[in-house]
Amino acid sequence: MFVFDHPSFDDHEGVHAFADPASGLKAIVAIHSTARGPASGGCRLWSYVSEDAAIDDVLRLSKGMSYKNAMANLDLGGGKAVIIKPEGEFNRTALFTAFGKFIDQLGGRYITAEDVGVSPADMEIIHAQTPYVAGLNSGEAASGDPSPITAEGVYRGMRAAVQHRLGRDGLNGLTVAVQGIGHVGYALCEHVHKAGARLIVTDINTEALQKARDELGAVIVAPNDIYRQQADIFAPCALGRAINPDTLPQLKVKIVAGAANNQLSTPEMGAALHRNNILFAPDYVINAGGIINIASEISGTYDPAWVASKLDELEATTRDVFAKAERAKRPTNEIADDMARQRLGRA
Ligand code: NAD
Repeated sequence: MFVFDHPSFDDHEGVHAFADPASGLKAIVAIHSTARGPASGGCRLWSYVSEDAAIDDVLRLSKGMSYKNAMANLDLGGGKAVIIKPEGEFNRTALFTAFGKFIDQLGGRYITAEDVGVSPADMEIIHAQTPYVAGLNSGEAASGDPSPITAEGVYRGMRAAVQHRLGRDGLNGLTVAVQGIGHVGYALCEHVHKAGARLIVTDINTEALQKARDELGAVIVAPNDIYRQQADIFAPCALGRAINPDTLPQLKVKIVAGAANNQLSTPEMGAALHRNNILFAPDYVINAGGIINIASEISGTYDPAWVASKLDELEATTRDVFAKAERAKRPTNEIADDMARQRLGRA
C-alpha cells in the first residue's frame, strides 16, 4: 500500500525507507512533526509479520511521539524508527552501524534512542556514525537507559488515576495486572510492589516471570489470560493494541494505565472504556518519562532536577486530562488528543 493512502498516515512530514543488503538492515524512519523541534523518538527492532505491519507501526508510533512530546511540553517533534529484524543470525554491530549512517543522512531532523528490542549498547554503535542519538551510556550528558524514568512516570500516572477513579491516595491493597515485564514493565512492578499492591503478571519470557514471582511475589498467568483477571488496574507494558474489540469485554478492572505505546487499537476503544466506566490514563501522557530523560541529554547537560520537575508536570497534566474529561463527560483519550493537537498547531 502506498504510504499516503495508508490508514495510519497523518500528514507525516517524512517517511524514509533505508536498506543495506550487506548487514541485512531494512529500516523505516517516520517524522510526524517537527513543529516543536527536531523529531525525537526511539528505534524499535522487531520481527514484523509484513512490511505493511512495520509501516503501520512506525506511522502510529511517530504520531504518538509528536503527541507525547507536546503533552510533556518538550521542544521536540515526533519521530520514530523501526528496524525489521533480519531472519536468523545477524551481526548487530553491522546492523546498527548501517542504521547510524542513515540516521546521519537525515541531518538532525530525527534524533533516535532506545525502544523495544534495542539497548544503550546499540545506541553507542549508532553514535560512532552520527551525533543524532541519545540514551547513551557514556559522554558528558549521557542519560543511559530511559526505562526506569519511564516506569517512574507511569507509576505516578497510575497513582493519579487511582486517586481520581478510586478516591485513594496510594496503591496499598490494590491488585495490578501487568502485561509485559521487560525494561519498563519490571521496573513498574517494583514500584507497585513497594507501594503494597499485589501483582499479576504475564510475559512470553519465562525468566522474567520467575524473577517477578521470586522477588515480588507476583502471580503468573498465561498471556491470553491477563485481560480477564480480577484486578483493580490493568497495565499494558508490552506492544500496542492491548485494548481491542476482543480484549475489552474481558476487562474487570477500573483503570487502564501502562507504559505501552498505542494501547488502543482505535480511538473508539477509548470511548468504549469510558462507557464501561474504566478510567484510561492516556499512554502518551503517562509514559513520557523516558523522552523527558532523553530531552535532558539532547539539551547538552543532563540535569536530574529538571527531569524531576518534568515528572511533576507530567503528573499534573495527567490530573488535568482526567478533570477535563470528567467535566466534559468525554473519554480521556479524546481530551488528550485535543490538547496535544492544539499544542502542535494541528487543532
Ligand atoms: P521490552 O522489550 O524491554 O519489554 C517488552 C516486554 O513485553 C518483553 O518482556 C516481552 O517479552 C513482552 N511481550 C511481548 N509480547 C508479549 C505478549 N504478547 N504478552 C506478554 N508479554 C509480551 O520493552 P520496554 O522498553 O519495556 O517497552 C515496553 C513498552 O513501553 C513498549 O510498548 C514501548 O514502546 C513502551 N515505552 C517504552 C519506553 C522506554 O523508556 N523503554 C518509553 C515509552 C514507552
